[in-house]
Amino acid sequence: MEYKSQVEAFANAKENDFVFAYEVSKFKRVFIACTNEDYWNNFLHKNRLYGYEIIRENKPCHLHIDLDVDRERFPCVNVDTIWITLEKHIDTIFSAEYEIDSCDIQKHIMHSTSIAKGSMHIVYNVKGYLFENNAHVGAFMRGVKELVEMHYPEDMTMFDEGFVDMGIYTRNRQFRMLGCAKFNTMRTIKDSHELTLEHWVDCKVQPAHNGEKFFYITEPDRSEPKYTSGGGGITGYVPDCVKPILQLIEAEKDTLVARVHAFPLSLTFACNLRTKRCPFLNRTHSKNVIYAIINLTTQKYRYRCHSDKCNGHESDAKPFPPDIQREVLEFLNSEVILPEIV
Ligand SMILES: [Zn+2]
Repeated sequence: MEYKSQVEAFANAKENDFVFAYEVSKFKRVFIACTNEDYWNNFLHKNRLYGYEIIRENKPCHLHIDLDVDRERFPCVNVDTIWITLEKHIDTIFSAEYEIDSCDIQKHIMHSTSIAKGSMHIVYNVKGYLFENNAHVGAFMRGVKELVEMHYPEDMTMFDEGFVDMGIYTRNRQFRMLGCAKFNTMRTIKDSHELTLEHWVDCKVQPAHNGEKFFYITEPDRSEPKYTSGGGGITGYVPDCVKPILQLIEAEKDTLVARVHAFPLSLTFACNLRTKRCPFLNRTHSKNVIYAIINLTTQKYRYRCHSDKCNGHESDAKPFPPDIQREVLEFLNSEVILPEIV
């Protein structure tokens, strides 16, 4: 069955169903709830390739990794080299911390590389084990990042330059599947095997069977795994499409977003930044007075300083990057679901 919104698809999904997103235009996706077999027969088998699996927020999944290298910006960086380095560190953790034998790990290594971009998806199948949900995978990967930061700082470029996409461990993440391509392109994700129903199912992030043990995972600070924007400490209503903008702001100002205030009627989000460094004066204020203002309607963000000395000074508005604009449009076109108050 096909639905206009993700929520509708979730509500109607039966026990053995998975939920998929399918691009019907550059800005619009529909949602499908069905079994893997039905999806295969009605989509991949019919050469309808613009599909994503939705990694549901409370369902078990495999470790999955997204590597991206912009070849124009980094002509000398090879995505396969990034993978070899990252793989070494992940193998160390599986063997040292979880005592997993390397022959119990199967890695599905997929490429979708073009002239502009070197791109890989890797999905791990660890015999007898699953991750409890995508937040646990995120916490595991934050642990990998911390290991590298502490012991192999020379390898941190892959995280610092964003070659390892750490933004994919969010609620109900859409993840492109083996054999699929972006709308109106032919650049499918491939591996070295023949594409069959069985192999495609094996390469999905969400397993077809449950019953395996869950890895015991914590955040690097030993707290429970949680869905974050990467910044942590975010309260209030933050739709998924705003999260990559928060990450962008954190990277731009080299700081964390301390709090987000939502103004749902105007689709505006005021983000209090942890830095005290004023973007307008060459000085540091004594209080946290620097804000970023995100406006989904205009698809732009700007910085503002609330210090008495700066008197609400504002930067020029900058447009969101194109991929975020697309996510925002999709959000604005979907039914807005107000958050539950807990
Ligand atoms: Zn200021």
